[in-house]
Amino acid sequence: MAANYNRPKPIDPIWYRRSCVLRITCPCGRHEKIQLGEFARMRGIPEKTLLYEMIARLRCRQCRQRPYADVVRGPY
Ligand SMILES: [Zn+2]
Repeated sequence: MAANYNRPKPIDPIWYRRSCVLRITCPCGRHEKIQLGEFARMRGIPEKTLLYEMIARLRCRQCRQRPYADVVRGPY
């Protein structure tokens, strides 16, 4: 039991999962895989932001569509 205890949850704040990996997949074919803490720093996203809030605001840099994204534990 509790096998997924450490799996990132949508209500986790960024700072709590900064070492995890953000995976972004867009319908246009663009993929991105980046450490969450680094991504937040690069984009100027406050680390208190919750994962689901951050994901809801994502836009593909290439086509501006809303991509699918999730946060998973490393290794990066
Ligand atoms: Zn795209």
